[in-house]
Parts: sequence; structure tokens; C-alpha cells
Amino acid sequence: MKNLSEVIQISSNTSSQILSEAFERISNHIETDLWINVEDGYEHNSYWMRTPPEELGEVDEVGIIEIDIDLCTFQKIVAIAHEVGHYFLDQDDVFGESSHTIFKESLAWYLGLDYVRKIGVNIDAKEYVEEMNKCLELYVRSMNEQED
Ligand SMILES: [Zn+2]
Repeated sequence: MKNLSEVIQISSNTSSQILSEAFERISNHIETDLWINVEDGYEHNSYWMRTPPEELGEVDEVGIIEIDIDLCTFQKIVAIAHEVGHYFLDQDDVFGESSHTIFKESLAWYLGLDYVRKIGVNIDAKEYVEEMNKCLELYVRSMNEQED
């Protein structure tokens, strides 16, 4: 195992071994530092779901993050970063609850990248932003379709 303080620089071209290492590091931090369970998702999507308040006394975890198993490892890293951003946003009294969906999505992208950086995983910023823009675009489109 590598020194934990060592920064891992990753992009979609990074070797699969390093990518797996980066993904492991992020999920381990999320599980041990934040008490969130990271699980495989079989429904073709990734999401964050907080533990309902009435169950908080019974279970240890504050929520779960599911990561779509069909994603390649680089995309899994991008997805887990985004989903943990939702967790941090949920903690925020001002912006967590009633903000517009697109604003919340944007903040989750921002907060997630910031978190994984702090634990020593540097995701290629250009690729992260590209992925973010793609997802935001899909959100905007699906919201417009709902309005029709
Ligand atoms: Zn999201």
C-alpha cells in the first residue's frame, strides 16, 4: 500500500491499477471518515441517499452512495466525487434543502471535487468539468421535458 499522504493524479488515460487505487482510497475515506456506505449499483445510475431520520438510531451509517457498476473506473471516480458532494451539500442549512436542482447539482460537483482533492486524489480538471457539463446538460433537458 502506498503512503496515504501521496497525491494520486488521475485522468481517463491513467492505468487501471492506479485508477482502482484512487477509487479505493476515496471509498475508504468516505466510509471511515463520513460513515457513508459505498455500494455497487445495479440500476444503471449512481446516487446518494441519506439514512431516514427515524432509522438513524438503529444504523451506524448516515447514508449510502451507490455507484453504477457498469461505469469504467475513471467514471466511477467522477461519480463518487459528485455523490459525496451531495452529502456535503445536504449538511448545509442554507443551500442544502430548497435550492434549485441545477444549483444543487452544480454545488455537488464543486464540493465533491474539493473533497477528493483534500484526500489526495487529483482528478483531471478538464475531464471532470466536461463530465459535469454533460450531466448538467442532461438535467436541464430532462427538466424541460417535464415542463412540456
Ligand atoms: Zn447529482
